[in-house]
Amino acid sequence: MPEGKIVKALSGFYYVQSGDARYQCRGRGVFRKNKINPLVGDEVLFEESNPGEGYILDVKPRKNELVRPPIANIDQAVIVVSAAEPDFSALLLDRFLVLVESKGIDPVIFITKMDTIKEGKLEGIQQYEEDYKKIGYPVQMLSTKQTDDFDQAKDFFKDKISVIAGQSGVGKSSILNAFNPLLSLETNVISESLGRGKHTTRHVELIEINGGLVADTPGFSSLDFNDLELEDLPACFPEMRERMEHCKFRGCMHNKEPKCAVKEAVGKEEIPTYRYEHYLQFFEEIQNRKPRY
Ligand code: GDP
Ligand code: ZN
Repeated sequence: MPEGKIVKALSGFYYVQSGDARYQCRGRGVFRKNKINPLVGDEVLFEESNPGEGYILDVKPRKNELVRPPIANIDQAVIVVSAAEPDFSALLLDRFLVLVESKGIDPVIFITKMDTIKEGKLEGIQQYEEDYKKIGYPVQMLSTKQTDDFDQAKDFFKDKISVIAGQSGVGKSSILNAFNPLLSLETNVISESLGRGKHTTRHVELIEINGGLVADTPGFSSLDFNDLELEDLPACFPEMRERMEHCKFRGCMHNKEPKCAVKEAVGKEEIPTYRYEHYLQFFEEIQNRKPRY
């Protein structure tokens, strides 16, 4: 039975990519009974009914999934922050990092608009770059004026399913367009063939960048921690994750506990103070969250 990946969902159809061929598929009752709603990114088994058309028969188990945009099996989230306009905010970056980590998705950091940086601000940004690289996160600086930057950035997308995240105005669309100038054109052609206007249907599509697939809709737009349990927060900071076995107490929350390896590392400046302060801020936010019923 042929296998493929859903790369697009539109108007009740699932577009399944299998090798070089793309099939316009509908779902079959079998998995509808099991209440599995196929998602873009799903690995599926399908049967071909007519040339280029078919039925999805089964969905393989997912590695992870997001609600907004609805995508499964995401390998990485590219968190886009700008060096200026809007100003770089480590607090906002850490918030995105925690949200991405909490979903079991690997983060990559793009720092954009490097050309708009003001006199004297470059060192600060470079220090952040060093700090986040030390944690283990890949960091790529970008300016739309530098094509070299984009050549390097392209490598991050290879062979992966990525979702882009970041506040408005940081340059997310500019990045997607730079990598895939045919993007809006392709969307147009398909919508017309279905006899619908371009903007009438909400859909998600994976677009190809350098042999990888990227969601055309940004993710992690809701920035609250409503889905995160307090005890899961420390694991969303890799530098805490790797030190917690040295804390005196098992299940140490690195807050009020004595003999805490994380707090010791902050004292020795092995962990930047701002990272720990953001941790405590998120900690309090989750602790003081109102119950949702
Ligand atoms: P989005 O809201 O994150 O999708 O951001 P956009 O891609 O729409 O970019 C917001 C604005 O920033 C646009 O006017 C872009 O032209 C501009 N922009 C994006 N990247 C760069 C950059 O590297 N340098 C400069 N100078 N402007 C940029
Ligand atoms: Zn601790």
